[in-house]
Amino acid sequence: MNVPAIAKSTFELLRNQPEFLKITETMITHLNKIKSSLERARFVHNVVDEYNQKIFSHPIVKELMPCKAGCTGCCHTQVSVTEDEAELLAHNISNGVEINYKLLEHQSLAGNDTDAFFAIPYKERRCVFLDDQGACKVYKDRPSVCRTNAVLGDAAQCDTSTNSGDGALRLVKTQEADMAIVGAFALAKESGTLPMMLSKVLKAKHAKENASILKSVFGRIAGKKPISKDHEI
Ligand code: SF4
Repeated sequence: MNVPAIAKSTFELLRNQPEFLKITETMITHLNKIKSSLERARFVHNVVDEYNQKIFSHPIVKELMPCKAGCTGCCHTQVSVTEDEAELLAHNISNGVEINYKLLEHQSLAGNDTDAFFAIPYKERRCVFLDDQGACKVYKDRPSVCRTNAVLGDAAQCDTSTNSGDGALRLVKTQEADMAIVGAFALAKESGTLPMMLSKVLKAKHAKENASILKSVFGRIAGKKPISKDHEI
């Protein structure tokens, strides 16, 4: 289980408080009842958004939070996703969202190794879903971690262009959302960094599609009637 670092530290801090632990437990109970991976991912995202809503709409947070489209600091850091979230991202790609596959492959080689990821040059660390204007191409379906990243004050605090990731901060505390995220990761069959998980899901889909094409080709060949003697030359 590769629980996102900040959600994990929130969980460690609050796991002994029953009202917070209940969030994680309830999340697991609900997710267990949902059969579709896309629905599970979207359920988690809705819960995270609802918890974040009251924090992000606070007048002081609104005034001091510089996060906006075009500011891409947190989109150059390591993002962890569940297998369901990777499926949802792959679903967006199937529906026409374009990504740079070479960049994805390059980033995925770092696996879950943070040092290896931050050793990649800054420009090559950009998330494959970041467009040229610095907006997220899958904003509606972005992972739960992306929904909780927020800072107060200077956006430069999130800039990892000149350091190894230690500078990435999240000053806005999203404790309830973090506890819900831990529940989602605890239940996930697999989780890990976005590039690694997405690459894996895309390859599995590709292999499945190839297998089904081969099956239908072989099916057609096997179904062909042998040429009758009358038609023999
Ligand atoms: S999925 Fe979107 S919000 Fe998340 S890191 Fe990628 S571009 Fe940024």
